[in-house]
Parts: sequence; C-alpha cells; structure tokens
Amino acid sequence: MKILSDPSAIEAIKKTKNIAVLTGAGISAESGIPTFRGENGLWTKLSPEELASFESFYQNTAVVMEWYKHRQEVIMKCKPNPGHYALNELSRLPEHFDLITQNIDGLHQRAGSRDVIELHGNLLENYCICCGQKYSVEEFDEVFKNAINHVPRCHCGGLIRPNVVWFGEALPRENLDMAYNAAIHADVFLSVGTSGQVRPAADLPILAKQGGAFLIEINTQKTVLSGEADLILQGNSGEILPQLVEDIKTLLPKA
Ligand code: NAD
Repeated sequence: MKILSDPSAIEAIKKTKNIAVLTGAGISAESGIPTFRGENGLWTKLSPEELASFESFYQNTAVVMEWYKHRQEVIMKCKPNPGHYALNELSRLPEHFDLITQNIDGLHQRAGSRDVIELHGNLLENYCICCGQKYSVEEFDEVFKNAINHVPRCHCGGLIRPNVVWFGEALPRENLDMAYNAAIHADVFLSVGTSGQVRPAADLPILAKQGGAFLIEINTQKTVLSGEADLILQGNSGEILPQLVEDIKTLLPKA
C-alpha cells in the first residue's frame, strides 16, 4: 500500500461498486491554474462580484470579456497533471464511476475522461446571449480580434459570453440531477481540491455520506467538509491521487 493504511478505508474500497468523485479548482492548481480560494487564490486579488456575474458582464462587457479571454488563453496553455490522469485510470476500476467537476477548464477531458459531469460550465465554450449561437475558442478568437471596443458580438448583434455559471445563475439542471444521483448511489466518494464553500456542489459529499458512502477528502488544507470526512489525505492531489489509484487497483481488480 502506498498511501492507504486506514483499515476502514481499505474495507470500504474492497466492497465498493460505485465510486463518485467531486473535483474543485485545487486539482488544477498543479497545472498552473489559480484556485479561487486558498493560498494564492484569485479571490484574494479580485472581487468575484466585479467579474463573475451577469450584471457586471452587461455593464462592463469589455473588462469582463478581456478577463475571460485571458483565462481562456491561460487554460489553453496548461496541461492536465497526474491527478487528472489518475482519475481517468480510476474510472476503469469499479463497476460504476462518476466524475463530477466544478472546474471549467476541461482538463479532465483532455486527460481522457469521458462523460464528465460539469456543474459550472466550460470556459472554452462561448455563446450569444440573443440567438444562442455557439462559438469555439478559435471562432471566438476571430470575433474578439475584430470586436469594436473589445465588446464581442454575434452576427445577430447579441453579446457573446462564456459558457460558465456566474454568481446568481442556476446550474445546468440535467447535470445537477446526474451529480445528485451519483452522490446518492456512491459507496466511496472522493472530494478533491474543493473548499466546499460553493453550493450546491458542496452538498454532494454530505449527500453521499448521508447515503452511506465512505467519504475521502484530498486537499492541501482543512476545509469546512473535513469534519464529515472518514479519511483525510492531506497534500497535493497530483501526488496523492496516483498513489491512491495504485492502492485501489490492488484492492479492486478491474471490473
Ligand atoms: P476553491 O478555489 O474555493 O478552493 C480550492 C481548494 O483547493 C482549496 O480548499 C485549496 O486548499 C485546495 N487546493 C489547492 N491546491 C491544491 C492541490 N494541489 N491539491 C489539492 N487541493 C488543493 O475551489 P472550488 O471549491 O472548486 O470552488 C470555486 C469555484 O471556482 C468553482 O465554482 C469553480 O468553478 C471555480 N474555479 C474553477 C477553476 C478551474 O476550472 N480550474 C479555477 C478557479 C475557480
């Protein structure tokens, strides 16, 4: 065993049929994408209300879209890290596996994960708020280059925004239902790199626990969810997850 020594964790994993994982910004920190909270978090430097809301997008479109354009460029240059790859490997071990993410960076998919349940959208997608036309990163680049005063507009004249969930907006219903379902049915639930401060995502580990799941938290720091966890693995997810998956492999022969 590389990282698992806790007998109750070993017992729980041996018996598990359903593993569900919730990831947050922390899993992408080692890929070079800043988290919102925690050490060096973005919200320590910028106010969320100033940038991540429809009101500010509508009132300060150029500033908000410049910021999102910059974040798209940062993400495009980043690569998945060993934590993302380990979760792709983990998906093949139990009978059933669900990967839920609060992240908008698409790094799980770039590490090979399929059917990722995205709760907060995807930063690499954009759409027109009037006609709904979708714009890929490349298409958006073109529009942005030619935008008057940095205000990107669709051919219909409508404003183009990123496909992310802003403060005060509803989460995509179908994805949220899939996430609740995954949490309720999980035997083992991993909460990885999330501060547990953004709801309803933060309810998922609690729901899983109430449904009888063994809850494992992986984080560099204690969080509001730590008190609920059956096992806390403290450290970088890019180092812990590959070791944990190696251990799970020995306990759970490929389904
Ligand atoms: P958060 O910023 O609130 O918290 C990040 C957590 O990750 C903290 O608890 C921190 O201690 C932990 N952490 C930092 N580095 C870590 C590492 N190497 N290994 C393990 N843990 C680490 O993030 P959140 O809980 O996901 O909620 C914030 C919201 O921010 C989400 O809605 C998400 O959509 C958005 N967000 C996404 C990205 C992204 O897509 N990469 C980046 C920033 C924010």
